[in-house]
Amino acid sequence: MLEKLSLGVKNIKKYRCELGSELINEVETLARDLKGVRLCHINSTPFGGGVAELLFSHIPLMRGVGIEADWQVIRGDRRFFTITKSLHNALQGAKYPLLEEKTKRVYLANNEMNARELDPNYDVFIVNDPQPAALRHFCHNTQAKWVWRCHLDSSEPDKDTWQFLRPYIEEYDAVVFTMAKFIPQDLKPRLIATIAPAIDPFSPKNMPLPKALCRQMVDNLDIHRTKPLITQVSRFDLWKDPFGVMQVYRLVKEKIPGVQLALVGSLANDDPEAWGLFTAINKEANKDEDIHVFSNLTGVGNMEVNAFQTASDVVIQKSIKEGFGLVIAEALWKGRPVVAGNAGGIPLQMPGNLNPYLISSIQECAEKVIKLLKDPDLGDKLGKEGKAHIRNNFLMPRLVRDELRLVKRLVEA
Ligand code: UDP
Repeated sequence: MLEKLSLGVKNIKKYRCELGSELINEVETLARDLKGVRLCHINSTPFGGGVAELLFSHIPLMRGVGIEADWQVIRGDRRFFTITKSLHNALQGAKYPLLEEKTKRVYLANNEMNARELDPNYDVFIVNDPQPAALRHFCHNTQAKWVWRCHLDSSEPDKDTWQFLRPYIEEYDAVVFTMAKFIPQDLKPRLIATIAPAIDPFSPKNMPLPKALCRQMVDNLDIHRTKPLITQVSRFDLWKDPFGVMQVYRLVKEKIPGVQLALVGSLANDDPEAWGLFTAINKEANKDEDIHVFSNLTGVGNMEVNAFQTASDVVIQKSIKEGFGLVIAEALWKGRPVVAGNAGGIPLQMPGNLNPYLISSIQECAEKVIKLLKDPDLGDKLGKEGKAHIRNNFLMPRLVRDELRLVKRLVEA
């Protein structure tokens, strides 16, 4: 059987203090209507990256309102995850010239094996991202409704990869994207929905921590409290442009010599590509004593990420392609100003006065960071505005509501 993660239950009432009653009441009503429905999310890793981050809060909240929610994780060897990382990249537009018959066979055989191991006793399955996308094809004899949830910017996928995956995706009862512009043009599922991700304000990563404590925590990791700090928190992935961030840092340093850069990254077991990149990033970072690289391998977990985001003067997310970028919502939620790539789902999070801080080049990124480091009041003001925007749009109960609305449509159809 596939691994089922053991997760607790979260009480949604707690979120009233952040969100008021209307949204929470709607969630409770939907959940009452769906009482007894068994829902299962499926993905490819229990840690590292946005999907795992989402499900850790999402499933306990679903349970808290009475939905029988679970999370199963597929298995695969290194060869499978190397292929699925290439599929992930190809859906975001990278060329994937190696999509040969043998590669397709390995991908499908792993999906078939996982389908055999899946606990089928659910009414609705939500399958996240391309790694398990062919599962539905191999799960015969099921009365369940199946949803494929794409977290990537799939607006311009590699043509061959998309033509390979499309028939498997079109077998689903519904497909969910973060934004309408991510829907590939020729996709014809029965139902398409757009639902944006969200963060949990009460998780260890996002709960309020005193700034002095955060400064102390990063100080313990060799960051000087009195010098300015810029941070990027990301999986080690080329789409997040870690080398571009180091170039930005060098330009900033010419104007603000004391500046320090923290690159906080994670490695996940469905991402074999990250290990080589991690080594290359460390090699580059070692050339400058004010560039610090941290990872989940050396104990930089949720609380430490919280501390880095809270203690930073400016948070960078220099993504080239980005489905959403939870890290932006996380930093804004802590009232920190963000300078981020004008890519994918990032602009959803940075409207109004935050919009000029969406950048398209290293030079532009450095200029905005310098401006914010020189004017901390402006940074605080933008951070405050960002926090309000995240509260109104991107906190977890809204995601629970949107998903329950979709589940209701499917089970009542
Ligand atoms: N993250 C983390 N530790 C790290 C790097 C990332 O906990 O060293 C978390 C980060 O806080 C966020 C998630 O991983 O919650 C990344 O999600 P995002 O949507 O930004 O990007 P993805 O990895 O899904 O592309």
